[in-house]
This record gives sequence, structure tokens and C-alpha cells, in this order.
Amino acid sequence: GIAAIIWYGGLQVIEGETSVGSFFSFLTALFMMFAPISKLARSYNKMQQAIAAASRVFEILDTRPEVTDKPEAKKLGLLAKEVKMINVSFAYDKSPVLRDINITVKAGTILAIVGISGAGKSTLVDLIARFYDPTGGRVLFDGIDISDAALESLRGQIGIVTQEVFLFNDNIRNNIAYGRDGTGMETVIEAAKAAYAHDFIMKLPHGYETQIGERGVKLSGGQRQRLSIARAIFKNPTVLILDEATSALDTESEREVQKALGNLMKNRTTFVIAHRLSTILNADRIIVMENGRIVEEGTHDELLRLNGIYKKVYKLQFSQIGTAIEPAAERG
Ligand code: ADP
Repeated sequence: GIAAIIWYGGLQVIEGETSVGSFFSFLTALFMMFAPISKLARSYNKMQQAIAAASRVFEILDTRPEVTDKPEAKKLGLLAKEVKMINVSFAYDKSPVLRDINITVKAGTILAIVGISGAGKSTLVDLIARFYDPTGGRVLFDGIDISDAALESLRGQIGIVTQEVFLFNDNIRNNIAYGRDGTGMETVIEAAKAAYAHDFIMKLPHGYETQIGERGVKLSGGQRQRLSIARAIFKNPTVLILDEATSALDTESEREVQKALGNLMKNRTTFVIAHRLSTILNADRIIVMENGRIVEEGTHDELLRLNGIYKKVYKLQFSQIGTAIEPAAERG
């Protein structure tokens, strides 16, 4: 195109129909147009992408939650006696994922849940926070069916710490106190201290005001976990749902995370999907799950003596992580 223009323009200049000046002005203007035109084309592409992305965002915003408050939903008080599951069953689609689950967990005690991947452990704890309603049976908080309770009064008293630590691209302080404005700095620091996070936070360039980057990328795995524990301690829930991380930390961070978890579990009713030896040893009761059922139940020593599935899972999952502890009877 350019060659053609130069040839035609040049010819016109030679024939005296156009002046050299106006021909070069025309050529310069032509060159100057290229960049804006190609930018325009690119911004059109960007706009198309943005429209597609926005429609997906609106789809999500428009999603109606499956679990909602009933019109006459009751406000739950803080858990005082027990959480009970009675004949609970659950299926995501057709095939059942939980069957005949019966458990009673007294307030202030720790229930550890063990079992191989896919056994239904996460689904079971999801039902306690009422992320789903059971397909059969009932989940009771102090005798009240949680499907009759106001969601806010249930979830407001539950703290959840999972393997996937979700941190916001904000400063440390807001990540600990997220969702709550106007709380004093002392409460945030107290929570961080109990989570063994205060010391590393103070070493950061701006302490509690340090921006931690998208999803906390500037922090180590152990630090991220302790921040999420600090957040849970800050919320001060009566019921705690804990999915222990399986990923190995170095010995030092592991010890700090364990101490932080110990502080977190104090005086709360805890449901923990256990991957750490110290957790199952501290639990008041352990349930062993297989194919959506509870197959064994008891304390660590009782379960080892059964010489059944627990012992196998224990040997597979726990004995390499810490010192293997044999039951009292076998220790003789
Ligand atoms: P665990 O926590 O013991 O690994 P899960 O509760 O995650 O077990 O999963 C139990 C079963 O339910 C698995 O077979 C899994 O594939 C299935 N499952 C888990 N989440 C969903 C879901 N959102 N939709 C459909 N099936 C699921």
C-alpha cells in the first residue's frame, strides 16, 4: 500500500500536479495514523474480552444460593451443650456421599475425623456450617435443627480454617480483622500473638501495615497458615472447623503452626479433619470414615486396639509425620 502511494504520489509530483511539500505532509500524516489505528483494533479486542468476563461475573452475582433462611428462621444462641448429627445422609447428585451418620459432640470438645481421600470428611464438616442441607436426617445445634436456624446466627459462630488459606491483597491488619471495621488494634495484636504470628509480622518492613500482595504471595506457607489462624482467633468462634494442611512445612514452622492451632482450639467445639499426629492424640474422640460411613469410633488408644481400619490409616498417614505412638496396652 505504501509503495503504491509513494509511486502514485511521486508520479504526481513529477508531473507537477502536487507539490513536494504537500506530498510529504500527506505521507507523514499517513505514518502517524498507523499506531492509533492498531491501538483502536487492540482496544476493541480488550473490550470484547471485558464484556465476556463481565457477563460471567454477573452470572455469579445473580446465582441464588441453594441454602437460604426459612421465612420463620430462628436465631441460634451460642452453642452451649452439643452438636448432633442424626441419621444424616447426603448426595451431591445421585450417588450417596454420606450415609447414616450419627455423632454427638459435646461443647468444648475436639472431634477428629480421619479417613482416606474421598471418604466424605469435607462433606461432613460442610454440613455443619450448612453449606448444604442433608438429603436425609438432621443436624442439631443444642437441639435446634440448623435448617430451621437463621444462617447468620449459625455461621457467625463458626470459624473455618482450611488448607487453602485465603488472603486478600491488603495489609496484614485488615487480613486478620477482615469484615470488621472499628475493632481496636490491641485485639488484632492479641490474636496475632496467640497465633504465633506477631514476631514475624513485626519483622516485616511496615509491621501490621505491610501489604502482603495478591493471595499473600510475599509470605511463606507457614506464615500464611498462622495468619489464617490469627484471623480465626480474632473472630473468636464457639465452633471451629479445621481442615489441617497436608503439605509439609519445615520443622520450625510446623512447630509454630501446631502451637498456634493449640491456642485456636482452646475452649471451642472443634471438628478437625486431622493430618497431624498431635491433633489425633489431643482429640477427645476420633471417627474413622470410609465410603461415606463412620466405620470406627473412639479414642486413639481404643481405636489402635481394634486393629482395624484406623490402625491402617494411622500407619499410612500419621506414623511417618511424628513419633509413632503405640497404644498403652501395647506399650505394656
Ligand atoms: P474427603 O474430604 O474425605 O476427601 P469429600 O467429602 O471431599 O471427601 O468427598 C466425598 C465424595 O464426594 C468424593 O467422592 C467426591 O468426589 C465427592 N464430592 C465432593 N465434593 C463434591 C461436589 N461439590 N460435587 C460432587 N461431588 C463431590
